[in-house]
Amino acid sequence: MSNNLILVVEDDEEIRARLAENVLIPAGYAVRSVGDGNSALALVGELRPQLVITADPLPDYNDLKLVQRIQREQPHLPVIVIAEDSSQEYVLKVLRAGAVDFVSVPFEPEQLLAAVGRALALRQDWQQLIQAQVEVKVNADSLERRIHELETLALIGRKVTAMLDLDEVLTTVVDAAVRLSGAEEGSLLLLDEDTGELYMRASKNFDEEFSTAFRLRTRDSLAGQVVTTGKPVILDERAPQKIKTSYLVHSLIYVPLKVRGHIIGVLGVDNRTADRYLNQEDITIMHALADYAAIAIENAQLYERSEIERSQFETILTQTENGVIVVDPENRVLLINRAGVEAFNVSGDIIGKSAVEVFDEPKLLELLRRAETLSNVEELEVSDGRTFSTQRTPVAGVGQAVILHDITHLKNLARIKSEFVTTVSHDLRSPLTAILGYVELIERAGSLNDQQRDFIQRVRISVDRITSLVTDLLDLGRIEAGLDIARENTPIVVLARYAIDSLRGVAENKAVTLEVELPDEPLIVLGDPVRLRQMIGNLLDNALKYTPSGGVVRVEIEAEGDQMILRVRDTGPGIPPADQPYLFDKFFRASNIEVDMPGTGLGLSIVKSIVDNHDGRIWVESKLGKGTTFTVVLALVES
Ligand code: ADP
Repeated sequence: MSNNLILVVEDDEEIRARLAENVLIPAGYAVRSVGDGNSALALVGELRPQLVITADPLPDYNDLKLVQRIQREQPHLPVIVIAEDSSQEYVLKVLRAGAVDFVSVPFEPEQLLAAVGRALALRQDWQQLIQAQVEVKVNADSLERRIHELETLALIGRKVTAMLDLDEVLTTVVDAAVRLSGAEEGSLLLLDEDTGELYMRASKNFDEEFSTAFRLRTRDSLAGQVVTTGKPVILDERAPQKIKTSYLVHSLIYVPLKVRGHIIGVLGVDNRTADRYLNQEDITIMHALADYAAIAIENAQLYERSEIERSQFETILTQTENGVIVVDPENRVLLINRAGVEAFNVSGDIIGKSAVEVFDEPKLLELLRRAETLSNVEELEVSDGRTFSTQRTPVAGVGQAVILHDITHLKNLARIKSEFVTTVSHDLRSPLTAILGYVELIERAGSLNDQQRDFIQRVRISVDRITSLVTDLLDLGRIEAGLDIARENTPIVVLARYAIDSLRGVAENKAVTLEVELPDEPLIVLGDPVRLRQMIGNLLDNALKYTPSGGVVRVEIEAEGDQMILRVRDTGPGIPPADQPYLFDKFFRASNIEVDMPGTGLGLSIVKSIVDNHDGRIWVESKLGKGTTFTVVLALVES
């Protein structure tokens, strides 16, 4: 309380003295008294009293004008008015003028002291309020700064993910570090793995020459310490090791740059003038910025790697001799390589266009349109006569890819070979018939001894074998060349019966049981009766040939929907699984048959060609030692 200074303004000198000496000073207040308003105003500014007690009117200020002036100039300085007029209107005027209390003359000292006590308490409340307001303002300021920092960080975050140019990103990060910390300079140092030195990758406010030439050994530098320990470093005026940078600074912060737990460099800011400080808050921001820089560096590395892979892939794609076409689910072209462009003679802007607009080849379009979910390999004969082997693969999330391999020359070779074989076979047939004829004649020309007869028999068997080989080859040539173009309504069940009947003798001789299960209806198939009978005959012939005595061969035909299904089953030796894929290849014979088993290896090729020519399907199921089943499916003619 003793600190409280009260300014008393009273023109009557006697009252002034009494107030001070008899009332206020004994109560422990310091008092300063003046007789006029002007002096009072001067002292208010100078002495900063805690309270003013003023009489009204004063010689130079009447009508509460002094109260109003004080109120204007020092709104938080309480004023008590002493006056003789104690009317209600006057008291109201006093309060409206801004005074905190009113004491009417005459008064008891206690009355005045009570008013003084209240006024000072009020002043204290005001002070606290003002203090609180100041604190709120300070908090608001720091909040604003924080928001600004966060905004900047968020902005940089967005930039970092959007920018592809690493230099630009790193410069942005260093700029932000300098701006947010209020430092003078900033640098981003990266570790050169080869030399173990740090070099300046980006900087702010450093001399360009200096930053280009900048090299720092990790071993004995502050930045190097950050790289080795992974911990940030902060230096200010009070820190002792400031000489450990290559240039003199007064304060600095270095934080590590980490990519997947591996430290690749440091981000730093510093001040060369003495009066700026850096604090823990700056470290937090620098950490965030360093993380952004690390992300950008990692992105750049990933991007670089993916760019290399992409260009390798592009080179492979353009260099490959095979055509590659990739389309999206709507059949718009996503990618086509040089070979693809050349194969279909397309030109102009192709990417993004619909396949129908780009390609003029109905069969290719048909292949793309099917968009089956399974990949497949097939031959595609295009309108100009070329043949492609195509591999169509659905690609999840992309569409489908078609790889085209031009096999026209292979096709031509195969055709030339077949023609050659057919010609040779044809030319062989006549001399073979002649040989056979003369062999028959030898016996009639005179008697032969047993050995001669045996030799002739061997010649006959061999000529028979060659004849059947030649016949098979000629058949195959004709079938493959599509010369058997007879398409008539053929009762397949009737044909099967003929084929079975002609081989019943063989079954009986070999003691193989022949079981037959045929439907009553004839089941009509559109096709070539001679070839269809040959197909059934070959399958049955094989079954009887390979099934040992005591075995069972069974022929079944059934109609299922618009298809007829033929099955030839046997209880023979079966076919090794490894051989099964090649069974229908020309001259192929399975590895488990006896060496002297007669046969040409052409029977099943003929069967397959006949089935293919009739748009049917054939497959084999076989178990070693158990038996084999061949199944043929052909379309039935609608009745
Ligand atoms: P081949 O003239 O040798 O019989 P095929 O083309 O008719 O020629 O048959 C090819 C090969 O398939 C045969 O050599 C044989 O190994 C095997 N094969 C065909 N049918 C059967 C069957 N029913 N049981 C076991 N193996 C068979």
